[in-house]
Amino acid sequence: MHLKSLTVKGFKSFASATTLRLEPGITCVVGPNGSGKSNVVDAIAWVLGEQGAKALRGGKMEDVIFAGTAGRAPLGRAEVTLTIDNNDGALPIDYTEVSITRRMFRDGASEYEINGSSCRLLDIQELLSDSGIGREMHIIVGQGRLDAMLHAKPEDRRSFIEEAAGVLKHRKRKEKAIRK
Ligand code: ATP
Ligand code: MG
Repeated sequence: MHLKSLTVKGFKSFASATTLRLEPGITCVVGPNGSGKSNVVDAIAWVLGEQGAKALRGGKMEDVIFAGTAGRAPLGRAEVTLTIDNNDGALPIDYTEVSITRRMFRDGASEYEINGSSCRLLDIQELLSDSGIGREMHIIVGQGRLDAMLHAKPEDRRSFIEEAAGVLKHRKRKEKAIRK
């Protein structure tokens, strides 16, 4: 399994639809300060369901929508699609390619899709929960976050391990069942 492509449209500094093709192995994004490198990483966190504005380096969730520049009007929605190569069947779904889409409007409402069909965020979380790409985003270590990980409390460290081991999914199902 590997990330195959990322399409961003109306997300942060990416006003026009922009697709980044990703190959297996290591991808480096280079560019001057402020050119949008971290915004690419934010887009990956966001499409996977990130709910915290701070984690996305903004004040409120709508800050991810293109806010306009001197020559270009603001947009009403942000949309990101992450396509994952699933030829090895690592994701428990009958497709060799899995596209996850999130769309958000200025009223703050988000829509999610798996391969073009509407779904809940929970469906995306469950699909990815054994893959190491989890809701808590431990796969993404942002500028300055390494320190926080190293100084994490034991219970937080436990959830990193549970997520990596694929246990978190069952715990979440259990919590949901108990709530009912
Ligand atoms: P550095 O090398 O300093 O880490 P970077 O390449 O990671 O820089 P980013 O933080 O990804 O840069 O991009 C910052 C740019 O994104 C800023 O110019 C900022 O104005 C722009 N930006 C962020 N949010 C929006 C938005 N909602 N609408 C338009 N532009 C935005
Ligand atoms: Mg940066």
